[in-house]
Amino acid sequence: MRLLLLGPPGAGKGTQATGLATRFGVPHVSTGDMLRFAVAWEAEIGLRAKSFMDAGELVPDEIVLELIRLRLAQADAGVGFVLDGFPRTVPQAEALEQILTETAQRVEHVVQLDVPDELIVLRISQRRSCQTCGRTYNLMAERPRSDEVCDVDGMPLYQRADDHEDVVAKRLQVYRRQTQPLIDYYEAKGLVRRVEGVGSLEEVEERIAKEIE
Ligand code: AMP
Repeated sequence: MRLLLLGPPGAGKGTQATGLATRFGVPHVSTGDMLRFAVAWEAEIGLRAKSFMDAGELVPDEIVLELIRLRLAQADAGVGFVLDGFPRTVPQAEALEQILTETAQRVEHVVQLDVPDELIVLRISQRRSCQTCGRTYNLMAERPRSDEVCDVDGMPLYQRADDHEDVVAKRLQVYRRQTQPLIDYYEAKGLVRRVEGVGSLEEVEERIAKEIE
């Protein structure tokens, strides 16, 4: 299973990717999570990426490609992956194709999650994330068992700096300008399936699974 999840910020890519990765027994690979960990650990890549992330802009391709190349070379990704948040530009998609071709692999499915703008803004404003494991919650729809801490590891939850309203507007703009052209790129390859991203976590997962199985 080599699946890409596309969609605007707040479409539920991370949540769905976690469920689908478990369902299909492949790793969930999120460049956003990898970058946030690199920032938290003050790794060199994180220091280079932080100002772009805080401003809601895309991190330069060479940084993201360095991370993804290393990640996809790990043994667990040999059986496949669910990619979340990558690729985000056509040059990244071309680079991914090249990386996969080197090991005789290819992208098999591309799912575009459709969610109306009003819901995106609402979802992101209610999102809280675990600083340690990266798991996300929604204060309305998917609350943690105890208000301020993660169900998985009991660590404090926080609101991502780029989930604040002013940065969200910028991220949506960046998505429309730089990431939407990817849909045409994959549509030309006949890979794109559109899935309605509104509904419960389980409903959306079933819709995706039905499209790709
Ligand atoms: P995400 O968690 O996918 O919403 O990503 C959070 C932020 O990380 C984005 O707003 C970008 O600044 C950066 N980022 C994540 N993935 C990529 C990517 N594939 N290309 C460039 N920047 C990325």
